[in-house]
Amino acid sequence: MDVIFADYALVGDEIRANVRISIAEGRLGSVEVGAQPQAGDERHAFVLPGMPNLHSHTFQRAIAGLAETRGPGADSFWSWRTVMYQFGLSMNPDQLEAIAAQAFMEMVEQGFSRVGEFHYLHHDRDGSLYANPAEHLDRVAAAAGATGIGLTMLPVFYAHSGFGGLAPADGQRRFIHDLDQFARLMERGTEITRELPGSNLGLAPHSLRAVTPEELSALTTMTTGPIHIHVAEQVKEVEDCIAWSGVRPVEWLLDHALVNGRWCLVHATHVTENEVTAMANSGAIAGLCPVTEANLGDGIFPASSFIAQGGRYGVGSDSNVSISLREELQILEYSQRLAERSRNVIAAPGQSTGVSLFTKALVGGAQALQSESGIVSGAPADLFSLDLSNVPWSAKHMIDQWIFGAGIGIDCAWVRGRKLVSGGRHVGRDEISARFRTVVSDLMAAG
Ligand SMILES: [Zn+2]
Repeated sequence: MDVIFADYALVGDEIRANVRISIAEGRLGSVEVGAQPQAGDERHAFVLPGMPNLHSHTFQRAIAGLAETRGPGADSFWSWRTVMYQFGLSMNPDQLEAIAAQAFMEMVEQGFSRVGEFHYLHHDRDGSLYANPAEHLDRVAAAAGATGIGLTMLPVFYAHSGFGGLAPADGQRRFIHDLDQFARLMERGTEITRELPGSNLGLAPHSLRAVTPEELSALTTMTTGPIHIHVAEQVKEVEDCIAWSGVRPVEWLLDHALVNGRWCLVHATHVTENEVTAMANSGAIAGLCPVTEANLGDGIFPASSFIAQGGRYGVGSDSNVSISLREELQILEYSQRLAERSRNVIAAPGQSTGVSLFTKALVGGAQALQSESGIVSGAPADLFSLDLSNVPWSAKHMIDQWIFGAGIGIDCAWVRGRKLVSGGRHVGRDEISARFRTVVSDLMAAG
């Protein structure tokens, strides 16, 4: 049994002093507050629970920073998507696995202990099925296994290029299934997640533009796991949905599907006040990806209104343009401040913004991935510690200093009791990042 002694730790939603945490068989045993350190305890200044990352497309890690040159006209999500498709269309399974391993490794280094992998790149480069139709799911699982991160596999069903069942575009050929093919993919997904420790399975209709109502209702019967969907990321998507159905995407979804606490609505960015209320009442998680949403110029989700109405949220690194838990939480708060021209928007009166952001994302992220979280006896031993060697700090403000200040990094991280990060570096970093550099150089040379 390993024991970690933290001078301070986030237990529930409070920063507690002298916390002694035992780990056995991947789970937290006793959590003693106000304890004395014992000989042999591993000592850390400040320990936090590992965070679920509820939304990722790992393969997009390869294009981080490569779509930041202005084009001839106004750039948009859609011009970014063109670059993303170019890379996505040329990648082979070995390359995909190397890119996924890099992204997952960085997630663990940055405080994420589990990832919801919303995976839609399924087929060979010409759009044909691989001999193993679940080749890419196997590769994602292998990357998760190699890095130690917990995996919630969310195979994506994608069938159409627009509302009303439009035929897919050529650039989408690697994404496309019919329902029978997808049911077989889910069978293999069940086997993969049964074999991989710390994993589970849900599914993801890509978006209302990519599935028909009939397909959506068939998909919801294929799993008892989490259901994730991209829902209202772009204004054009909202306009197209209104043209097709007369109503907005979130409104349509809440009217036509039994949306409840199993659901995660990713990028519910463009919503009316009525939709915000209905979403909060549904119990679904709002999947917020503030770094990517800022990078893509998506817009700002009205988080403070949603939270005030009891809405729950988690955060995701989505395009993986910059994998950083603290940046996700910081930009979530800053986007609200900019929109509302106010400060400390997300916290309740008297509460630390950092503690509020962190604890709500922890609970919401765990719900979205049907996992457990927090420093509590019986939970998976998912933890990380901060490196406070370079800054003056106060326990009371510690999480705010980490998220909003400078100079504090992550020191160590454990997932299911395995110490995977030490001194800020993942145990497999040298090998994983060397492979990643080669693969991305090859892809850039080919492009
Ligand atoms: Zn996404």
